[in-house]
Amino acid sequence: MRSPKDMGIIQIDITNACVHSCSNCTRFCGHHKKPFFMDFETFKHAVDSLKDFPNMVGIIGGEPTLHPEFEKFVNYLRDSRIGVNKRYKILRKPVSNMLKYIYTYLQHADVKLGLWSSLNEGYYKHFEVINDSFPTQFLNDHDIACQHQALLMPRKEPGISDDELIKKRDACWIQNTWSATITPKGAFFCEVAGALDMLFDGPGGWQVEPNWWKRSVKDFWDQLPWCELCSGCLDVPQRISNDERDDMTPEIYDPLKRMGSPKIKRGKFVFMTRKLLIKAIITRSQQEQIT
Ligand code: SF4
Ligand code: SF4
Repeated sequence: MRSPKDMGIIQIDITNACVHSCSNCTRFCGHHKKPFFMDFETFKHAVDSLKDFPNMVGIIGGEPTLHPEFEKFVNYLRDSRIGVNKRYKILRKPVSNMLKYIYTYLQHADVKLGLWSSLNEGYYKHFEVINDSFPTQFLNDHDIACQHQALLMPRKEPGISDDELIKKRDACWIQNTWSATITPKGAFFCEVAGALDMLFDGPGGWQVEPNWWKRSVKDFWDQLPWCELCSGCLDVPQRISNDERDDMTPEIYDPLKRMGSPKIKRGKFVFMTRKLLIKAIITRSQQEQIT
């Protein structure tokens, strides 16, 4: 695990509304009865708290351009002291290892603002302000399917012991390569933990105040219980993103059903029992050996 201060990016989740409903979405889009839209005061606090953060600040969703105050937010971000944009870098060719590219690029890029968008109408509506403000844009229209790892298959069903979980959690590839985040409910050491807190109406994150992101790993204890409900760090199946179904075990299915998840109502899930899970894990490992 890493402190947010050592991350290349810290995100601000301004909404979980999205035009898509991908399988195994990291924000669990499709399960919320009503999306959230961060308010402007919270956004200002979030931006101000990251004033001295030396790396990239990202705006993400859901689909951030769906936020009704998107331009107001972007103008504030651009005019803030963290918005020092010196150099543009456009990815013109496919790269074989996107994660490596992002990681290497961010370490050397002199850019500080990033936008994550799935290129919907909102993107084109705000085209001018986006391109005046974000030197780095991560655009993925999801027309080309990619693999999304299951996140809602926590350790109980696969039978992972306490010791194993601690080892896997501490080596979680998501926390080690992605970002900390700020949601309307506070700051989180991991973006998936922030989304789980939103989905299950958890206690919220750390207070968004200057230097919250300097916390070290030993200060994560109050948020680590989210890893108990998450399969981000486990060897679980992946699914093509535009399949739209989420893989989940009974432990997660039951509360989501009780909460009235629209995605469950539409039958967009694959129920994973222990037997099915073991079969899927073996298939995944065979596929990985072939490729
Ligand atoms: S586009 Fe991104 S945020 Fe939207 S559903 Fe797909 S994975 Fe989730
Ligand atoms: S297990 Fe899940 S919540 Fe925990 S660090 Fe990994 S992605 Fe985040």
